[in-house]
Amino acid sequence: MEKIYITTAIPYVNGKPHIGHAVDYCLADCYARYHRLKGDEVRFQAGTDEHGNKIAQKAKELDLPVQDYVNENANKFRDFIKKLNVSYTDFVRTTDESHEKRVQEIWRRLSDHIYKAKYEGWYCTGCERYVTKKEFDETGGVCPDHQKPYEELQEENYYFRVSDFKDRIREAIVSNEMRILPEFRKKEILCLLEESPDVSISRPVSQLSWGVPVPDDPSQVMYVWLDALSNYITVIGFPDAKDFGEWWPANAQFVGKDILRFHAIIWPAMLIGLGLPLPQNLVSHGMVLCDGQKMSKSIGNVVDPIEVLESHGLDAFRYYFLRHIDTFADSDFTWDKYEEAYNNELANDLGNLVQRLATLADKNQIVISRDNNSRLSDEYIALMDGFEFSKAFDLVWNKIQELNKRIDEEKPWSLAKNGEIEKLKTCLHNLIDGLLTAVYELSPFIPDAAAKIIDIFSGKITTPKVPLFPKNHN
Ligand SMILES: [Zn+2]
Repeated sequence: MEKIYITTAIPYVNGKPHIGHAVDYCLADCYARYHRLKGDEVRFQAGTDEHGNKIAQKAKELDLPVQDYVNENANKFRDFIKKLNVSYTDFVRTTDESHEKRVQEIWRRLSDHIYKAKYEGWYCTGCERYVTKKEFDETGGVCPDHQKPYEELQEENYYFRVSDFKDRIREAIVSNEMRILPEFRKKEILCLLEESPDVSISRPVSQLSWGVPVPDDPSQVMYVWLDALSNYITVIGFPDAKDFGEWWPANAQFVGKDILRFHAIIWPAMLIGLGLPLPQNLVSHGMVLCDGQKMSKSIGNVVDPIEVLESHGLDAFRYYFLRHIDTFADSDFTWDKYEEAYNNELANDLGNLVQRLATLADKNQIVISRDNNSRLSDEYIALMDGFEFSKAFDLVWNKIQELNKRIDEEKPWSLAKNGEIEKLKTCLHNLIDGLLTAVYELSPFIPDAAAKIIDIFSGKITTPKVPLFPKNHN
């Protein structure tokens, strides 16, 4: 039995949960459930990022105290995670008092690598980020996302000296001490590492008030990185919790590909500065596209995860996003594809199989003495350990389709008609055993459906009154 610590990126709570968050949670949850099946002990973090000007401004627009505004939004995210049946164990908010205290301690411990310097350059308030000379030139001085000219800025900030750690980070990436997945991103990160500048980690209090105060300097407030990235260790009690060392380093940290670079450069720099080991796996997933295009408000093709969730329920949601959205590459969502996957695969392949087997067993009063179905195939384990979730899902689905072929070939209904009861028993026993073995492997992906199927075939089998995946259901 191993201790496995899994993390998800913490969303910035100035808006609604989107599909990208959902993918992050589903992948991490699938991995957590897989480890629990193997008998490992799992700790699983989720949380929310709640500081910064965008949040303070939004609260002001709504005429709400900032804390009330973030409380409300943090709850929205927590509800969303619950709706996805994500089995997290720890929830961290960057406005938690314990997080803030711990982050200040982290700052103190990194102080040998922190210096104060003057920043002169451009800034986008919409993005809440500094703009490099190169970006300024490429965009003609106008933010492409906000269509606003960059502001000229002159201020004193604290910087974190990333350059102190570059050699060590490169070594960790190259040797797979900190494995970056997918493999093809590794080269990209190594290039970015070379040109990575020191990062600003604070802003003057006059520019930013909604944040964690910098220790021993009331004129400055922490800005983004140190505060947000620290959540992965503050939530499990760094530095003083007794069992912190039992859980850190994380076995797997799940992030979207757009934020991989911060997790693969700034975050390990912080950890090395703190004398802590690096995460074992940084798993970056692709983006969900809509009709081959990036989802964006201006195109008007943003898919609301809640709407998807409500159309066919949670199993369908997790099914689609864990199987048809490739774990690593960008993949497409369309409503047509979603409907098709629901009707042809979930309802036909799996739902019908369950219904046929349960009906036959019920009609012929067959009691199944169940074999041990709690086993995972070597091939499945290899794929899951390699974070190839969509491939592992395909593997199990092939087994479901194989069972459908077998039921058509072996025709248990004619065995029943001919009174060949012994043969019928053996036939159904084998088919149901095959189904339950596949369902065991499916359970990290679609836990609710898996639990229902196991329940149907436990004890006296009765025909389910409602099919597992009713068609034309809305
Ligand atoms: Zn911008």
